Amino acid sequence: MYKTYQQQIVEYGMKILNSQHVAGTSGNISARIGDENALAISPSGVPYDVMKPQDVPIVDLSGRLIYGELKPSIEWKMHTRIYQEYPSIRAVIHTHSVYTTALSLIRTPLAGITETLLLIGETIPVAEYANAGSEKLAENVVKALRNSKAVILANHGLVCTAESLESAFKMCEIVERNAKIFTIALSTGKPIHAIPKEEAKAAVKWLKENYGQR
Ligand code: 13P
Ligand code: ZN
Repeated sequence: MYKTYQQQIVEYGMKILNSQHVAGTSGNISARIGDENALAISPSGVPYDVMKPQDVPIVDLSGRLIYGELKPSIEWKMHTRIYQEYPSIRAVIHTHSVYTTALSLIRTPLAGITETLLLIGETIPVAEYANAGSEKLAENVVKALRNSKAVILANHGLVCTAESLESAFKMCEIVERNAKIFTIALSTGKPIHAIPKEEAKAAVKWLKENYGQR
């Protein structure tokens, strides 16, 4: 009964690996299961290219293993806290994307430099540093998610939250691409121009109403 979710975790693990958002066993992925208070989450320290659906543990919202044999990601506290605090969020992807992590070192939030990015948040904040796997990191991330669906982790990486794994993955791609553009622009030393606040608001409203097939 958990098979589809377990397969999806493996599938998106391969996507973040192949698109170089992670290397080795870094990063982790989870998806909330139907209307149950449970989630499928990638196992800790298992390389994505050898991970099988049956390796993916199912845990409840307090992190207790309810199905499967392997230990869940060390970031289970972060994933479960996000689902507890934000019921509309159904999928979480954590990566170590290069340009986003570079921004975290200079504690520079990703400004609203393009309209695609604005749809995720006015700016993408940097959550305060805390050790990987800690309760404190979970707390800092939940706090930073108040105004943005994606959060940069200080000296660590990126977290994207969405209503599906597909959207969360797209979000990681958008944030990292914009972080790359932003970093290149920053490296010139010249001032950066974000989209002005009023225009930004109007752009988000217009895109939400008009963009794509409907
Ligand atoms: P896991 O392999 O335990 O998920 O840890 C990877 C990671 O990125 C920790 O932040
Ligand atoms: Zn990590």
